[in-house]
Parts: sequence; structure tokens; C-alpha cells
Amino acid sequence: MNTQNVSSETTTSTEDSEPSASEKQPPVLNGLNNDDVTEFIENNYHDTTIEQWNDWKWQIKNSITKSEDLISILGKKKENIILNIPENHLPFRITPYFASLLDRLESEHPLYKTIIPTVNELNSCEGEKTDPLDEESDSPVKNIVHRYPDRALFLVTGFCSTYCRYCTRSHMVSKRTDIHVSKTDWEEAFEYLERHTEIRDVIVSGGDPLTMNDIQLEYILSRLRNIEHIEIIRIGTKVPVVLPQRITPELVNMLKKYNPLYLSIHFTHPDELSRETRRACNMLADAGIPLGSQTVLLKGINDDVDTMKKLMRQLLTVRCRPYYIYQCDPIPGSEHFRTTVEKGLEIIKGLRGHTSGYAVPHYVIDAPGGGGKIPILPNYVKEVTEHGIVLTNYEDKEFLYPL
Ligand SMILES: *Cc1c(COP(=O)(O)O)cnc(C)c1O
Repeated sequence: MNTQNVSSETTTSTEDSEPSASEKQPPVLNGLNNDDVTEFIENNYHDTTIEQWNDWKWQIKNSITKSEDLISILGKKKENIILNIPENHLPFRITPYFASLLDRLESEHPLYKTIIPTVNELNSCEGEKTDPLDEESDSPVKNIVHRYPDRALFLVTGFCSTYCRYCTRSHMVSKRTDIHVSKTDWEEAFEYLERHTEIRDVIVSGGDPLTMNDIQLEYILSRLRNIEHIEIIRIGTKVPVVLPQRITPELVNMLKKYNPLYLSIHFTHPDELSRETRRACNMLADAGIPLGSQTVLLKGINDDVDTMKKLMRQLLTVRCRPYYIYQCDPIPGSEHFRTTVEKGLEIIKGLRGHTSGYAVPHYVIDAPGGGGKIPILPNYVKEVTEHGIVLTNYEDKEFLYPL
């Protein structure tokens, strides 16, 4: 496997004449390079042209849906891996692109665990629930979750191009027979949003909304834009990471018509920031779409200060502002993914003050039972005395702010 670090080589691209500002990134990042993709395509998708490979619809059509097939592509051992996924269990799906990224990384890379189902998923333990956030009881109509006073979640599809094994909505994604929610299903949701004038922020999520085509997506966005009280629209997606080919000039031009529109991108690990993903983020940012990141804290995958610090810093280089780190939701079979809250606090403590404030997201627990997102912070207030408040800084030095 070619994981050599070639970043010291010349970074001038010779194949493109005039690189745009956003493409003046070094072409080689994290030891990944284009030649690896070409070889991967030749080895696994004979007779596929690079044009086909770069077509997002080809990527979805040719996605790998059997863990067995992925294992044979990657030449992995089969220990602990579920080959026949039980019915009603979160299915397996990964884009050829994301498989090629895994292939470019070392064989024990933690990102494998995020998408390959293992037998650990079959062991439910106490406290785990299929709908841990109890979204069901905050759902006034199908596909809407209205929990906070001024904003609502609109679940427009149950489909994702790649399924994360720790998905908080694993009970609902991909369970429909037709891929996306139908227009009539959306209608009830639009009517609810129209009626509820207190809603000024709609988060379009799923599933992954960016797996829909431009026409379907524009239908949703234009319907929402026509509702006067909706001030901002957000889209929650992992597409720039698992299907960066989807971020086309046409998509970006369409999205920017609906501003203010924010994009929350699900990132897990710094090695996801391949040159393809960086290109996708830069295109979105160039179109003036504010980007934020959401990261789930995962045991053995990103639960250390160095990995998180690297991820958050690299996100800023593609103009994506770290927004949330989530404590992993207790879905059934998630014990092997969940780490302690102390670990999360240690990570926040290792970021704040040690790197740009912009690189420090909010660390939250989405409270089981539907309490919503609760922020947790290291304790910087040592004590409150008659003289003032005693604070500890990032270096654990004490300071007094007088009362
Ligand atoms: C996360 C979430 C939101 C948005 O929360 P913000 O803190 O505003 O990003 C809204 N509704 C539901 C149900 C959510 O889970």
C-alpha cells in the first residue's frame, strides 16, 4: 500500500494550466496522491474512465453494499466483521471513492472501523436505545423534529451514500423501499413549517440531503425560501467527505441562490481531508456558503488531543469552522465506539488556548430522552471568594478576577 509521504516533492501541478486560488493547495496531502486513485480504479473497476469515476451518480450506482466485497477490494482480514447483516440492521454501504481513500491509508487505519460492520454492533447493552434522542416524541408530523423554540429539523431522505456504523439515526436511515422520501411525504412537513411562524431556522438533514439530485434538492430549498419566517437554512451532510464528486459547479451555483444557507459537514478524522475533499470544501466556501463541522467523539478513532487538534486545524484551512464535538449517542451496539466524558473534556482542554479559538468547537452531549444538546466544559472556575473569582487558565495557572 502506497502511503509514502511525498509532500516534499514539487507541488506545482503541471496538468492544469491556471489553478484557481482554491486549487493552489499543495496537490499532495496526508501522503495521498492521485496516482493511487488511478491504480485503485484499474485494479477494481476495470474499463472505468476517470470521467465516470468523477461522476457522483456513477459513484452511487457503483457503491459497495456487501462488506465481503469491500474486504476483497481492500484485502482485509475478516475477523469480527459481519458478512450477512441481519434484516432491520443498519445496512452496509460505501462509495468507491471512500473505499479508495481507505485503500490509500494504512491497513489498520481507524477510519475502517467507522464504516465496516463488526460483531460488536450486535451486542446491545444497558442504556442503549434505538432512538436515544427520543426524536419520535418531538415529531409533530412525519419527517419533522421540532424540539427547540425557533428551529426545526427536516429529515428529507433516509438514504446516505456511506453509512457510519455509529449513526444516531441508524433506526430510520435506509429503511424505506424507495431511496428518497416522496414529494407527498415532504408536503406535510412544508405545511407544518409554513404554519409555525416561530421557526426561523430549518436544518435539512436525513439521511444525507446531498445524495438527492439538484432538481429534488432545489425543490426543497425553494419551498423553504418561499416561507417568509424562515431566515436561515442549514444542510447537514457527509457528502464532501464520502462523495466529494457530488460538489459540482452546478450544485454550488444552485445552493448559493438560497443564501443564507449554511452547511454542516460531518468530519471524523484529519485523514478524511484528501485533495478531493479539500477541493469540495473550497468550492463551497468560494460560493460564500459558510461551512461548519460536526464530529462524533469515537473511541480509538479520534479520541485523543493530537488527532482532534490536527482535524480542527486542517478544517480551518478549508474554511470550515469547527462547530460541535458530540459525545457518541447510545444507539444499540455502540459500546465499542463510546468513550468517556472525561476524555472529551481532556480534548477540549487540550485545544482551548493551545490553538486558535476558531479551532475549538463546542463539546456537547445530546441528552438521551430528548433533552437536546447540553454543552460541557472543563472547569475553569476554581472558586468564588469574597475577593473575586479564582480562574484557571489553559496552563493551569490561577488568576483572580476581582468582584
Ligand atoms: C441539533 C439540533 C438542532 C440544531 O441545534 P443548534 O444547536 O442550533 O445547532 C435543532 N433541532 C434538533 C432536533 C437538533 O437535534
